[in-house]
Amino acid sequence: MRILRVDNYIIETPLIEIVTQLRMALTNGKLREIKSWSEGDDNIVVTCPNRHHKGGREHSAAMNIYVGDNSKIPYGFCKCWACDFQCTFVGFVAECFECSEDYAKHWLIERFGILAENIIITDDDIVIKPKRAAARLPAASLDHLQSWHPYLAERKLSREVCELFHVKYDPSTSQIVFPCFDVAGNIIMAPRRSIVYKNFYLDKEQDKPVYCLDYIIKNNITTAMICEGPFDVLTCYTYGYPAIGTFGNPSPQQINEINKSPIKVLYLAMDNDAAGRRMTNTIKAGLDPRILIKYVEWPAGKKDPNELSFDEFQQTMKKAKMS
Ligand SMILES: [Zn+2]
Repeated sequence: MRILRVDNYIIETPLIEIVTQLRMALTNGKLREIKSWSEGDDNIVVTCPNRHHKGGREHSAAMNIYVGDNSKIPYGFCKCWACDFQCTFVGFVAECFECSEDYAKHWLIERFGILAENIIITDDDIVIKPKRAAARLPAASLDHLQSWHPYLAERKLSREVCELFHVKYDPSTSQIVFPCFDVAGNIIMAPRRSIVYKNFYLDKEQDKPVYCLDYIIKNNITTAMICEGPFDVLTCYTYGYPAIGTFGNPSPQQINEINKSPIKVLYLAMDNDAAGRRMTNTIKAGLDPRILIKYVEWPAGKKDPNELSFDEFQQTMKKAKMS
């Protein structure tokens, strides 16, 4: 699957979703129909927005919008087979609105754009921090989102665990939302991850919280695992082990939060790769000496808790060592 780039922004929202919203925004009668689209199709077929189609006599010609994986064809490339009109996706939006490409870009960025600055690459996960104001929100502010999506089961997570940690699915962006709470139950941050791409989105200009640490504190849990991503953390809970997560590189503030928590035994379960080993060393160096460290060694070829079956997970935990 692919990402649309518009100037300094990336757009991950599936183009079918954008086209649907575009059609609702139009008042000029263009884009009358989205003629066909089903998951896995290489093209979205819509009514050609070219006004001058065959001298204006034909109004229902089909235009293809390319959403396939062939990198030789630009993502979102539009072509009408009847009038030969072809353009980029931005050009298509402009044609629909009968406006400039600048306006089209603005319309797209305002609704779907995520600033592509500060791209931090941690292994194969790209963490992008969009500019977004951070605010503490009541937990109920996520109530309008879906509580479950089959993708969560695909990632081995149980429904009970997802409900316990208020994991949500936002159909408007095709993203899983992993809210992080303070101990009072307010949302401090709501990182998101697309179910299509591997990108995680964290709010910018705010310290990263420790994922699920509020749960550890509220329940006075003294033995926990620490992993990189929310899927890893939730896998641990699904398999019966309390855990916390750092969203990539552990920050000094995060380590400080862990030091102040009730945790007495911490299983270091960062990813089984060079970045994960660096993170393990960072945590080890910053952790209060009162916390006993155990090292989890992943089976060969397995990268993180989310890749393990229940049995592999049990075996791995049994083999965890003190050094
Ligand atoms: Zn046409």
